[in-house]
Amino acid sequence: MPEDYPAFEQGRHLLSVAQFDRDNLRSLFDLADAVDPIAQRQAVCTVLDGAMLGSLFFEPSTRTRLSFESAFLRLGGEVTTTTGFTFSSMAKGESIADTSRVVSGYSDVLVVRHPDEGSVAQFAQASTVPVVNAGDGAGEHPSQALLDVYTLDKELSSRGKAIDGCHIAVIGDLKHGRTVHSLIKLLSLYSDLHITLFAPVSMELPGGVEKYATDRGHHVSVKGTVVEAVRAADAIYATRVQRERMTEELANANAQGDLLNWAMLAEADNLEAILMHPLPRDSRPNSFDLAGDVDDLPGLAIFHQTDNGLNIRMAIFLTALGVSIEAVQLTTKQRPWKATLR
Ligand code: ASP
Repeated sequence: MPEDYPAFEQGRHLLSVAQFDRDNLRSLFDLADAVDPIAQRQAVCTVLDGAMLGSLFFEPSTRTRLSFESAFLRLGGEVTTTTGFTFSSMAKGESIADTSRVVSGYSDVLVVRHPDEGSVAQFAQASTVPVVNAGDGAGEHPSQALLDVYTLDKELSSRGKAIDGCHIAVIGDLKHGRTVHSLIKLLSLYSDLHITLFAPVSMELPGGVEKYATDRGHHVSVKGTVVEAVRAADAIYATRVQRERMTEELANANAQGDLLNWAMLAEADNLEAILMHPLPRDSRPNSFDLAGDVDDLPGLAIFHQTDNGLNIRMAIFLTALGVSIEAVQLTTKQRPWKATLR
């Protein structure tokens, strides 16, 4: 683990996937498994009674914000939230450091998303409580990568396989998509991976991320077509074109049609592959994203990812706040109500 990235544990910020090794990753996944009855709403927990989450999203988000906030609420905590710049004091020119110092005085943990790379680390420097990076521009999105690897592990195990030695295709906007930067770095903890990449012109994976994987002994190859990239892959991870991080002309010039659809998977003879995507999926015509005609395929795992996100984010809060699974169990009871449709 690099020195500037201390292991993620009680009292520490979570800024990068570089804060994990195989051991603390396994501990986080075990905790995520253990809280499943609470995530599934079979049981109600009050272990975070009295704790306050400060949820600060200076960039649009639906599932990441709701998932972090739901995770905290399901553990019995309370949430205070602010979204966008317009209603925040940053619109009046306040510095990141001042905002951070102020809101950390109101909260026990902060979750921060911001459009500038490195900005969440600046938040962390001025904060008096742990800060969780919920996405800093095109930088990192560690909680997404954690839930992606957790999901990949489960999907592969259900097929009698493991992440070690697997073939994963990573396709789409690999330059601006922060989820793939964090994902490839986190996957690099495993051994002997075969990673195939496909990106439109001007959206290629940054060399530093590719080097991170090759330096750790993985085999990375860039393919000229999506069909070549996904052929024989155990899992395919697709990402949307990050239109908010480029000009419309650039996006339209290089990304038309579908990124991946049923016919392309059929051509690659890989209709059984595990299909992953961080979402949102851009469903507008010509958006160059994962097409909706793959949704009935057996490997579709995109909603397993979103469901698993709750478990992972609960495990992140429990770790940052130093709560043991025993304390969780002591404060958990069966729920007296049912939320399922008939
Ligand atoms: N939701 C993910 C993110 O915040 C992926 C995306 O927006 O395309 O990075």
